[in-house]
Amino acid sequence: MDPKVKARLLEQDRRYVWHPFTQMKDYAERNHLLIERAEGIYLYDADGNAYYDTISSWWVNVHGHAHPRLKQAIREQVDRMDHVMFSGLTHAPGIELAAKLVEITPPGLSRVFYSDNGSTAVEVALKMSFQYWKQAGKPSKKTFIYLEHSYHGDTLGAVSVGGVEQFHALFRPLLFTAHRVPSPGAPVPLPGSFGRPANAAEAAADPAAHSLRAVRELLEASADDIAGVIVEPMLQAAGGMLLYPAEALRELRELCSQFAVHLIADEVAVGFGRTGAMFACAHAGVSPDLLCLSKGLTAGLMPLSVTLCTDDIYQAFYDDYETQKTFFHGHSFTGNPLAAAVALESLRIFEDEGLLQHVGGAARHLAAEMQRQLGSRPRITGLRSLGMVGAFELDAAPERRIGFEAYLEGLKHGLFLRPLGNTLYFWLPLCTTQEQISDIVTRTAAVLERLEL
Ligand SMILES: *Cc1c(COP(=O)(O)O)cnc(C)c1O
Repeated sequence: MDPKVKARLLEQDRRYVWHPFTQMKDYAERNHLLIERAEGIYLYDADGNAYYDTISSWWVNVHGHAHPRLKQAIREQVDRMDHVMFSGLTHAPGIELAAKLVEITPPGLSRVFYSDNGSTAVEVALKMSFQYWKQAGKPSKKTFIYLEHSYHGDTLGAVSVGGVEQFHALFRPLLFTAHRVPSPGAPVPLPGSFGRPANAAEAAADPAAHSLRAVRELLEASADDIAGVIVEPMLQAAGGMLLYPAEALRELRELCSQFAVHLIADEVAVGFGRTGAMFACAHAGVSPDLLCLSKGLTAGLMPLSVTLCTDDIYQAFYDDYETQKTFFHGHSFTGNPLAAAVALESLRIFEDEGLLQHVGGAARHLAAEMQRQLGSRPRITGLRSLGMVGAFELDAAPERRIGFEAYLEGLKHGLFLRPLGNTLYFWLPLCTTQEQISDIVTRTAAVLERLEL
């Protein structure tokens, strides 16, 4: 890029733009990394330097950037029809994607409701569950159970069931009340990480059992007031990449069925192969009552999300108009045809390339390489991985802003890293090769060496 253009853009960035999840003062004297091009799993800055996109551009990218088939799908769709509304009108991409999603998601989910980001997919699930119980003759069931360290998005309903204190505590006066239970996830975060439970010792012994006990007690005491339990299946992502056993998810499913509350699975982050299975619920062989999907849905090219529900839920809304059971919710860009077309093409690539089989091998390689190259470093704890996600804790002094240090040092080693507090993680595109995985881990080891970790 012309250096004058680059300088002008960065000056305007500093003057006009407010970036998400960013303390803007960090960039008062330091430029944001200006990305000009992205291809495969690499990002290229305005000077032509390459960086590994180790977090899949905020967990959305699946097949790498600039995939020719995905670009072609958008081109063909935009030539045919750009965007039309999805209320009173319907269209082929929206219909075909819904049918495909019902086919590939866990059994029992039969209807697809579109929105355009993960947070709204969660809002839809919460509102559907709430309205379902009203229309099913149980209007007292109107609150939710959520997990400590959970993250379900940034809109106020999603924040109401959010368990990351650093993001959510401030907004509590604006939120509806819901029941928080301990996280089933391990490892228990270090001091300095985003969340550290008050009863860390008890939780550390067996976090999953500790969490399930709390859910059972709440349901025994007040299932009549509870509409649903919302969880991120297998992996609490933004709360610190905390993994929990499939058995805990299975038991949670059983508790929800036993006490007649909805299980809401938020697979916005973990869906579409990231954990090694197409959907994380499959690790436990469970079907939720409501399923939220976004991020990887369009392979990371277009904003789109869906909330799927069971026929039982759908039927509670299906009646004569006069009964006032309509679900009055919708977004301007509902079912956007460009996004639906690219999502369909992404799912065809999964099939044509046997992608989940590749992920199986890549995931084993990631786990082995992290163990081999990072496992014996002195200030690394909680090394863990599931599918294309790997994480560990940086045991640095709390006053050190170690995540930010790692981000800056990573850039010097051709890595785009963005740790969550003290948790450094990889969230790799599914197409990442074993050779690239080894190289990413080697470069990360060099970063840690420089940071004396
Ligand atoms: C990112 C995320 C969301 C929110 O999605 P947005 O598209 O950022 O609104 C919801 N749930 C989970 C589990 C997420 O990781």
